[in-house]
Amino acid sequence: MKKVYLQLVSFLVEVDDFDEDVEKITLDYLNKDHSVNVKGKDHLVKCEQITTYYLEEGSDCGKCSNCGNWTVDEFKHDLREISIGTTHDGKLYCYDCLDSQI
Ligand SMILES: [Zn+2]
Repeated sequence: MKKVYLQLVSFLVEVDDFDEDVEKITLDYLNKDHSVNVKGKDHLVKCEQITTYYLEEGSDCGKCSNCGNWTVDEFKHDLREISIGTTHDGKLYCYDCLDSQI
């Protein structure tokens, strides 16, 4: 019997305009290849749902001041689908980088 997993994956999609259909961009990217061959076996991978969050750079969300990856301040933002971090000395850091800043 096949085992089925639901995996939640986060994509960061950068666009120039608000009217871009970011879900279609991601769906087109995901649906290029439905079958993945690993160790000689074909595995079906199908996109079931996309949930889109708009990230507005500010004090609670933005690029880590050290590595530049997107992160959210865990004490100011509910989003957990991307790297979490916090603010230190007025700058936002992901937790991977925070220790090197203290
Ligand atoms: Zn970082």
